[in-house]
Amino acid sequence: MPDSDGPDPAEADVIELFRTRARPLEGLLLGIGDDAALFSDGRVVTVDTMVDGVHWDARLEPEDVGWKLVAVNVSDIAAMGARPEWCVLSVSLPSPLDLRWTERFAAGLVAACDRWGVALVGGDTTRGAVRSATLTMAGRASRPIPRSGGRPGDDVWVTGELGLAAEGFLAGTPRAEALVRLRRPEPRLELAVSFADAGLVTAMMDLSDGLRADLARLCAASGCGATVDPGAIPGEGPLSWRVAFGEDYELLFAAPADRRDALRSLATMHRTRIARIGRLEAASGLRLRDGTDWPVPLFAHFAPPSGARASPRGDA
Ligand code: ADP
Ligand code: MG
Repeated sequence: MPDSDGPDPAEADVIELFRTRARPLEGLLLGIGDDAALFSDGRVVTVDTMVDGVHWDARLEPEDVGWKLVAVNVSDIAAMGARPEWCVLSVSLPSPLDLRWTERFAAGLVAACDRWGVALVGGDTTRGAVRSATLTMAGRASRPIPRSGGRPGDDVWVTGELGLAAEGFLAGTPRAEALVRLRRPEPRLELAVSFADAGLVTAMMDLSDGLRADLARLCAASGCGATVDPGAIPGEGPLSWRVAFGEDYELLFAAPADRRDALRSLATMHRTRIARIGRLEAASGLRLRDGTDWPVPLFAHFAPPSGARASPRGDA
């Protein structure tokens, strides 16, 4: 679907070029438009690319880049209510080869694969003008959760604290935990799978582009709108950091009000904070409960809004 509420209309236009031309496939339940493609046997597949100078700068060590590439893919797989199983890696490296950088990148990538139980089963290696790496990851869900199942009246929830990566990237003297989050996102894999398997959530996705853009996507897929209480959005930073930066890799999900206690007890079991931030409504559009405007997006790949920076943070 065209995503005029997203941070980058040009990116949405590019995706549309492919989406409108994609052939149908038997057994494909969800194609372009969700966190991962979903097949009728519960298998899911996703891909993310990281480019030097676009997705990372000198604040990330090579190990962090490898870790983060795995983490952002695990985040998309988890957002479907699925567990990752295997991945394939494509790396483009400038000549002459910096073997030390590549060794350290590989160490971070392998450590993250171990952390989430993902097997690296193949890949490709090439020379490239800039360093970049693409990871394709597959997994499986027993009860997959799309973005499209939300209904008016459902509560809107998020995990964790939003705006930490924004603080890590934008603040003059970020807290240590904010820098750690920027470098090493922690996808909520176990919690996402437990929500899905318990049948508690109607729609779920991960927060990679900021709450405002990503909630617009969940609402568009679910055919509804939402009102959000800005004071309920967890995090210490200004509202723009919490909703308009991205890289949170927290879960955004919707659930009927009678699931509140069950959701809270699973979250407690997984030692993760969850916050009820608003409600889905029949009227389309995203509203803040106090009537204020949403902060402008802080990043875009191709069409930076005024005041926005185009790099080095793109959506992974
Ligand atoms: P996410 O942030 O969850 O990884 P994206 O915003 O990157 O998702 O992409 C949105 C949707 O568009 C996803 O379903 C993704 O698979 C699809 N997509 C993105 N780029 C392309 C492309 N070049 N060709 C086909 N599908 C794409
Ligand atoms: Mg996603």
